[in-house]
Amino acid sequence: MFHDLRLLQTLPAAVLVTQEGTIRFANAAGQELLEAPSLDRLIGRLTADFVHPMDQVRSSHRIQQVAVPEQAGRPNKSSEFRIRTALGNLRMVLISSVAIEWQGAPAVLMCGMDMTHQSEIEAQLRESEQNFRRLFDNLQDVYYRTNAQGVVQHVGPGVRRVLGYEPHEIEGHTAESYYPQSSDRDAFKATILEKGEVSDFPGQMVRRDGQVIDISISSHALYDHAGHFAGVEGIYRDVTQRKNLERELQRLATTDMLTGIANRRAFLECAESAYAHSRTSGEPLTLLMLDLDHFKTINDRFGHLEGDRALVAFAQAVKSQLRASDAVGRLGGEEFGVLLPLTTLAEGMEAATRILDSVRALQLADDAGHTYSITTSLGLGAFRQSDRSLRDMLDRADQALYLAKHRGRNQIASLETADS
Ligand code: GH3
Ligand code: MG
Ligand code: MG
Repeated sequence: MFHDLRLLQTLPAAVLVTQEGTIRFANAAGQELLEAPSLDRLIGRLTADFVHPMDQVRSSHRIQQVAVPEQAGRPNKSSEFRIRTALGNLRMVLISSVAIEWQGAPAVLMCGMDMTHQSEIEAQLRESEQNFRRLFDNLQDVYYRTNAQGVVQHVGPGVRRVLGYEPHEIEGHTAESYYPQSSDRDAFKATILEKGEVSDFPGQMVRRDGQVIDISISSHALYDHAGHFAGVEGIYRDVTQRKNLERELQRLATTDMLTGIANRRAFLECAESAYAHSRTSGEPLTLLMLDLDHFKTINDRFGHLEGDRALVAFAQAVKSQLRASDAVGRLGGEEFGVLLPLTTLAEGMEAATRILDSVRALQLADDAGHTYSITTSLGLGAFRQSDRSLRDMLDRADQALYLAKHRGRNQIASLETADS
C-alpha cells in the first residue's frame, strides 16, 4: 500500500499516518497544518500532543474505533477537532481517519482539513443572521412575500402593530383580503406585472379592528428559474398619519379660512378643469362672478367683525342654491365665483336668480340687535367654443358684473346672447 508516497505528498489536504498514537508519516500539507518547522519534529511525536485537551478523549476514542477489525478499511465519519500546532496556535480541523497497513503493521491514516477559516465565516454568518433577525423583528415596516396567486407566504412581525394580526393569521390568505375592496389591489398588481417593481405605491388596508389605514408599498416581482412570475416580495408601511397631515395641509391650502369655501386658487383650478372638459366635450359651462353691494357701508355701520359674519352668511346662502357638482369660491375680499358645469345659459340665469333672491332674503343682525340685509350683483359668463382660454370667459363674467353694478346693483347682467 502507498508504494508511491509522492501522491500523498502532493495532496492539498493534510495527511498523517500514525501507529499506536505515534506519527509515522506527514505530507507537506500536514506539516504546514501543524506548523512544524521540519518533518523531524513531527515523526515520532504523539498525535495527542497536537490535540486540544478538551478534544483528547473524543479523538483517541475515534482513533481506536477505526482500528477495530470490523471497521478496517472503512473510514469513520469526519469530525471537527481543535488542535494546537507546534507554534501553539489553535486550529479547527475536520478529520476523517481510516485503518490501513503501514510497513506491514496496522496503522491509522488521518486526513485533515483546516476549518479555522470556515468557522470564522460561520460565526460571521451567524452574526449577520442575528443582525438581520433583530432588524427584521424590529422593523416598523411590514415585510411580506406572496406567491403567483397572491397568497401571502410570509409576513413579518411588523404586521402586529400595523394591522393588529399575528403573522400566522395572515399567512395563507390573499393580500387582497386585507384591502377595503379586493379590486383596490388591481392597480398595484397591474403595475408590478408591467414594471417588475413599485416604490411608495399608495393603497389602503383594513386593520383587525376595522379601521381603514393608508399604506405605502415598495415591492418587486419574483420570478422562478424559468423566468415566470412567481410572486411579490416587499414591504408596506402605515402612512395614515402622513396622509392625514397631507389631507389637512391640502385642505388648508385650498380653503378660505373665513367662510370655509374654496379659496381663489382652488376655485380657479376647478374652473380650469371644468373649462378643459367643456373644451373637449363641447358641453355647456356657466360661470358667475359676484360682488357684494356697498359692502363698505356694512363695515362702516356695523364694524368689520359684523362684516365678516355677513360674508359667512352670504357664502352659505350662495352654497344653499347649488348642486353638489357646482363649485363656489371666494376670489377676494367680498368677491365670489360660482362654477356651474353642464349648465346652459338659460339654466345659469335661473341659478343666478335663485342666488340673488336667497341673498336678498337673508335677515342679518349685529350684536346690538340692529337688523340689516345685503344684496349682491352678479355677472354671468358662458363657455364659448371660440374662447382661447378660461381667461376669456372670466373676463366676460367680470364685464357683466361691472354692468350689473353700473345698472344699479342687486341684479344679474350678462354679455351673452341666447345663440352665443
Ligand atoms: P360696490 O357695490 O361698488 O361693490 O361697493 P363696495 O362698498 O362693496 O365696494 P368694493 O367692492 O370696491 O369694496 C369692498 C369692500 O369690502 C372693501 C373692504 O372694506 C370690504 N372687505 C373686503 N374684504 C373684507 C373682509 O374680509 N371682511 C370685511 N368685513 N370686509 C371686507
Ligand atoms: Mg362690493
Ligand atoms: Mg369688491
